[in-house]
Amino acid sequence: MVTSREQMYPDTKLFIDGSWRDGTSGKVEPILNPATGKLIGTVAHASIPDLDDALESAVRGFELWRRTSSFERYKLMRGAAEKLRERAASIARIMTLEQGKPLGEAKMEVLLGADIIDWFAEEARRSYGRTIPSRSGAVQQVVIREPVGPVAAFTPWNFPINQAVRKISAAMAAGCSVILKGPEETPASCAALVNAYVDAGLPSGVLNLVFGVPSDISEYLIAHPVIRKISFTGSTPVGKRLAALAGSHMKRVTMELGGHAPALVFEDADVKQAAKLLSAAKFRNAGQVCVSPTRFMVHERVYDDFVEQFTAAAKALVVGDGLDEATQMGPLANLRRVEAMDALVSDAVQRGARIRTGGRRLRNDGFFFQPTVLTDVPLDSRIMNEEPFGPVVPIASFSTFEDAMVEANRLPYGLAAYAYTKSAATIGALGSIVESGMVSINHQGLALPETPFGGIKDSGYGSEGGTEAMDAYLNTKFLTQMHG
Ligand code: NAD
Repeated sequence: MVTSREQMYPDTKLFIDGSWRDGTSGKVEPILNPATGKLIGTVAHASIPDLDDALESAVRGFELWRRTSSFERYKLMRGAAEKLRERAASIARIMTLEQGKPLGEAKMEVLLGADIIDWFAEEARRSYGRTIPSRSGAVQQVVIREPVGPVAAFTPWNFPINQAVRKISAAMAAGCSVILKGPEETPASCAALVNAYVDAGLPSGVLNLVFGVPSDISEYLIAHPVIRKISFTGSTPVGKRLAALAGSHMKRVTMELGGHAPALVFEDADVKQAAKLLSAAKFRNAGQVCVSPTRFMVHERVYDDFVEQFTAAAKALVVGDGLDEATQMGPLANLRRVEAMDALVSDAVQRGARIRTGGRRLRNDGFFFQPTVLTDVPLDSRIMNEEPFGPVVPIASFSTFEDAMVEANRLPYGLAAYAYTKSAATIGALGSIVESGMVSINHQGLALPETPFGGIKDSGYGSEGGTEAMDAYLNTKFLTQMHG
């Protein structure tokens, strides 16, 4: 039964060619509130005829949008950002209902989404080309940037707005049209993002939103000749499959995949500050964050102190329904994550790990798991090698800088890395030795609109922030002309 608290949750349809509609198959998928496990709504599924409509619409949208001046795109996008800000409280409520995160985090996500649109709106006006001095006075050589074409974007459920807004806003700033396959488990806040654009006056066809069976949709769209660019955020195994498919059709790709961020605390660090900032970062969104600090490595001289302070912070967290004001950590977004936490903890314990706090499911309703701290976790434990994507933290110790670097670079991932130290020499060395797309030292400073966001190695390629993010959606054209 839908309770009064959940009454305001809207069912989500497909947005194709400027209107919201049911899928042609009539199929819908249930949406559960992760805080209660109860049904709160549905999302429509797209099948091939819907995707064909979206593709045709994206072609028309691209023809129109690429010819729209960047100043007009900028104005429209700024309008969408304002709509998001005005609606932040109501969208945040929808996001908490479907995804579980505390209301405050949901609201921050919506507001950051508006900042991201603003950034890309401004970048739309700066997609400069250049003139290259020629070898002859009669020749003029120029480089221009053109939108790559209709984009297929695939975004996950952990940040229903943030993951989508980065892709669609960069694409739209560049002059591309987009078919977004949003997250089936958290569709309504993603739909609210689309509505902000629509209500700001976005022409039909520039942005289409579909949901359905992820592999069916990606296989159809990636292979389709209309689509010129793929952008995916999700797990490394799926990313590798989609990148391989895109490669076989010579499509450009951005891949924002999993991570396993090392979090290093050196002996000269401000341990209290490190424990405070790292615990806030780790348990944000119940640990379901690709840049979440994951493998904690603490110098042996400050290890006991750090473990004590970090464990105290984990124990003190108020876990509950994200709609409750007191809640600091909500449920996990789905049952799969709870089962994954159970499996990772029992694997580590079987291999000799010690549970300092947590380790178990919480409550009978919903998808809750205790904030969990593990120590003495052997390197061959699953959690030391697989992305946990949840509120479970393994903490280990190290004795030399060299040992810490070996461990920091041990895994094939390379998304984010964190370190706390007062030594300028250590900071300098970290910057060059750590194999990671992003390194944040003495604070948790990643994911701003104006800074690059992306990984290396198995964490993917391409950037979703900063000026670099525009490159993904622009072709470079060289034009040389001789004057008669
Ligand atoms: P999953 O790997 O099946 O799905 C992850 C995302 O990819 C979902 O949004 C899903 O819809 C999408 N997806 C899956 N198969 C796809 C396909 N063939 N084509 C297009 N999209 C596809 O598993 P999950 O249980 O949802 O998440 C598990 C893992 O995914 C997590 O443990 C985490 O490692 C990773 N993940 C990463 C991010 C991120 O921000 N990088 C976000 C969500 C999940």
